[in-house]
Amino acid sequence: MTERSDELVFRGGTILTIDPDHRVLAGDVACIGGAIVQVGGDYTPRSRDYTIVDCAGCVVMPGLVQAHVHTCQTLARGRADDMELLDWLRVVVWPYEAALDEAALTASVELACAELLLGGTTAILDMATVHHTDAVFAAAERSGIRATIGKAMMDVADPQTPARLREQTRSSLDESAALIGRWHGAAGGRLRYAYAPRFVLSCTDDLLREVAHEAPRRGVRIHTHANESQGEIALVRQRFGKDNIAVLDDLGMLGPHCCVAHCVHLSADERRRLAARGAHVCHCPSSNLKLGSGICAVPELIAAGVSVGIGADGAPCNNNLDGLIELRLAALLHKHRSGARALPAPEVVRMATLGGAAALGLADQIGSLEIGKRGDVIAIDAHPLHTVPTASPWSAIAYAAQSCDVRHVAVDGTVVVRDRTLHTLEVKRVRERARAAAVKLFH
Ligand SMILES: [Zn+2]
Repeated sequence: MTERSDELVFRGGTILTIDPDHRVLAGDVACIGGAIVQVGGDYTPRSRDYTIVDCAGCVVMPGLVQAHVHTCQTLARGRADDMELLDWLRVVVWPYEAALDEAALTASVELACAELLLGGTTAILDMATVHHTDAVFAAAERSGIRATIGKAMMDVADPQTPARLREQTRSSLDESAALIGRWHGAAGGRLRYAYAPRFVLSCTDDLLREVAHEAPRRGVRIHTHANESQGEIALVRQRFGKDNIAVLDDLGMLGPHCCVAHCVHLSADERRRLAARGAHVCHCPSSNLKLGSGICAVPELIAAGVSVGIGADGAPCNNNLDGLIELRLAALLHKHRSGARALPAPEVVRMATLGGAAALGLADQIGSLEIGKRGDVIAIDAHPLHTVPTASPWSAIAYAAQSCDVRHVAVDGTVVVRDRTLHTLEVKRVRERARAAAVKLFH
């Protein structure tokens, strides 16, 4: 059902390039064989095998990149409201993940990917659950999304963790290595692997040390959580006698290949360590607010030299996976403390695209519309009344646009959403399967 022509033209929009000069151009974005060959001006197809997508009245920009999501958790949407992080994990999310079989997991990931693509998110860094990670990759592959996925690693013998999620150190590492072999670079490079130790409290020192050693050797990312809530931070200090980022750093986990979700409560020393190692942070404003965790000091992180991306986290802590809501929240949230000039529209749009791409290690391939990059392109309609008049496309995207305004989406030069219709998965079937699977899980 996907439209796979050799040439793809997003025709006649206002283009936010997100290039180093933040240029705004008019005209076409054209791809050949999945790679961008022209940005702006009029493009004439060079062959007969082309698709033209009408983008008149649209803002055309790189797809949103979410640097922290859990597509495996989508069926628990609305099941874990108004709870603090550690209770949220122990009472609802871990028992839910323990109960997932392959069919339920597939329904969850398809639901997530459909929602993400229809909302303009073209790439994700996804922490799966402990088991059935092949099903997560397979569903992501079918959906057409660009995904860097890792099985959650949890080898600490914590009595509060369901037995089914408790792993042996060796088998967790071996399974990760096998998944790298099967999926890293699959689907023409659209699927990649990331080691995903859940957080330091779920993992032994041995496992974390081995991940720190193996990830750069195998050329894959590390994706973890840290400094999310005060309760978690207190437990980390109790076990290790030091701060969370110091623990990760001393174990060798931090580097340009590492993305740490949340980082809500950081000392100046922790910020310095993240910057010195070139580690990325994923800001998850909705999740941090809903779990009562706090607000990540993003302006201070950026001032310290840390690259920041944005993510919706999971459906049970958000409760949706809407990249534009996260973008708007990130743009608004820091003005209260840091003043109205904090995170202006172009900076936050850049964070939601190129910042995420950098966190995925793909800044040379996606995150901006530049010749030679891959064709991950979205068109957002600027006709709806809530974006009229469109004084500035930056302002429209950061403050006014909604995910239902996303009109067309292409990943790797292939159209996956056209005129708000998903072409890769059947939305009606995705909805029915998700509802049925949730009823079975929560009966
Ligand atoms: Zn998370």
